[in-house]
Amino acid sequence: MSGIVLRVAQVVGVLVLAGIAISIVVGFVQSLLGLALIVSIPLGAWWLYRQVKARDARPAVAGRPAGRRAELESRAVIDAAGRCGWCGSASLHKDDFGFPVTPLAYHRAEIDAML
Ligand SMILES: [Zn+2]
Repeated sequence: MSGIVLRVAQVVGVLVLAGIAISIVVGFVQSLLGLALIVSIPLGAWWLYRQVKARDARPAVAGRPAGRRAELESRAVIDAAGRCGWCGSASLHKDDFGFPVTPLAYHRAEIDAML
């Protein structure tokens, strides 16, 4: 009879210990989740703020100079008549070594000076 009581006590003890262990783990996970939530809210807000700010800032910073440059560069091309669209020269532009270069490369310094 005492053997059964001991066995029951043992089972109850194991169950109680297991219950305590589970509650500790659950409590730990819950506090970890709570902590992650608390940390993720300001982090998420900050991330969202960065995304919105980056989207707003990019066109404002790069928009106008890039448009002006593209407009000038589009003029420094060989036109349909085979002339340089920038200076109207009918002959191919050549670099210091006599190699033909594109009008864009040849007039690069002038284009940059006008920006
Ligand atoms: Zn030219």
